Amino acid sequence: MRALTDTSDILVIGAGIVGVSTAIWLQRSGASVTLIDRDEPGSATSYGNAGILASASVVPVPTPGILKKVPGMLLNPNKALFLKWSQLPRLLPFFYKYLLNSNSDSVFKISNALSYILYDTVEQHLEISKGTNAENYITTNDLIFGYSDKIAFENDRYSWDLKRKHGHKFSSLSRDDLAKYDKNLKNKFGFAVKCMNHGTISDPGVYISELFKSFINKGGKFLKAEVKDILFDDFRNPVSLNTNNGDIPCNRAVLTSGAWSAGLARKLGAKIPLTSERGYHVEYHSPNIKFKAPVVISDSKFIIHSMQGRLRCAGLVEFGGTSQPESSHPFKLIEKKIETLFPELKYERKTYWMGHRPSTTDSLPVIDISPNYNNVWLGYGHQHIGLSAGPKTGKILSEIILSKNSNRDLSRFSASRDGLVK
Ligand SMILES: Cc1cc2nc3c(=O)[nH]c(=O)nc-3n(C[C@H](O)[C@H](O)[C@H](O)COP(=O)(O)OP(=O)(O)OC[C@H]3O[C@@H](n4cnc5c(N)ncnc54)[C@H](O)[C@@H]3O)c2cc1C
Repeated sequence: MRALTDTSDILVIGAGIVGVSTAIWLQRSGASVTLIDRDEPGSATSYGNAGILASASVVPVPTPGILKKVPGMLLNPNKALFLKWSQLPRLLPFFYKYLLNSNSDSVFKISNALSYILYDTVEQHLEISKGTNAENYITTNDLIFGYSDKIAFENDRYSWDLKRKHGHKFSSLSRDDLAKYDKNLKNKFGFAVKCMNHGTISDPGVYISELFKSFINKGGKFLKAEVKDILFDDFRNPVSLNTNNGDIPCNRAVLTSGAWSAGLARKLGAKIPLTSERGYHVEYHSPNIKFKAPVVISDSKFIIHSMQGRLRCAGLVEFGGTSQPESSHPFKLIEKKIETLFPELKYERKTYWMGHRPSTTDSLPVIDISPNYNNVWLGYGHQHIGLSAGPKTGKILSEIILSKNSNRDLSRFSASRDGLVK
């Protein structure tokens, strides 16, 4: 679809949850907006995630002790961490900062910033979807963490203590409690934790399409094009976007291209390294089991979520960039675990998917104006929590673009930071 963009339009590059949310908030504030994506809106990472509005996900992946665990995890195909070894030399500078941020002081600062962007995620989703079909896809529910036994839970004590410090409430469930909670979980885990008041999205892809439709119905424009470059005048103001669909005049732009933001972000002056933390899902269609609440398989780091018409099993981490093909081991790990835990599961067919979490070395997104140019803003890098934090990011971006709310301290999300937490 070709949009007739106007020079007064704000051009939002990338229509995942972050870009669509940004477009909607700008539009609600009276701006004229064109969304641009090379694919259908909501069809990249925002499509295939686990669908959890994860207000309690305040703990980054690198935490104290990770350095000792990583080699063993990488060498064991039954563990949830994978690496495309050919990419290791390119990724070393990223890993250096990423792992240096695993000390407890840095993790504490990161978790404070994550908490700020996540604590009201359900309310933010209810607000952005109000009056649209998208609101039918939001539910509040528990989130269950299943552990083989209490010792395995104790090994995660650091992360639970941090969640508790941020005010998150949870209760423990014995094997018997869990069977009473959901008969499908009888004898599946020796110990479990129930987190209350989480949100879920029952079909993230459709949810974002519905948000997008509401944007279009209210006069928003969409252009299908791949943006190659942003061109500026001598005064550092944008003049056009160079795309595979021709040049588009541009006065104001926002970069929300997820894991593919790195090239343009560098030109715009962002210093923090960005890479893809690839994640995987396997879906079991028309399953004979429907879980009462989503379940995190703690030892395998993926989530099982009964979505509309299918059971989605999504998670794992593979470092390997955006251009490498998907690997077979992560799919096998998910399937093996599911077949072992739920031999009674029957289904019609399976489908497979890999997506790209946009991850920075300090596990925090960039939400800021370009350090190098005027009238261009950045909103990317939401790692494991982008579905949750997308609407709030969009609201914050719309405020800073339209110079509305100056009370927020956004320094942790600065585009000028170097990616090592101080
Ligand atoms: C397995 C898995 C499970 C997850 N589970 C959860 C979860 O339960 N809860 C949660 O909160 N988060 C979860 N996440 C993370 C979440 O999905 C991401 O953080 C989020 O989707 C990122 O959104 P985004 O809008 O930044 O990027 P994307 O959704 O990837 O959107 C970026 C868009 O930009 C477009 N684009 C890129 N480059 C260009 C260009 N040059 N020109 C035009 N268009 C371009 C792409 O086509 C794409 O549509 C999960 C991720 C994975 C992989």
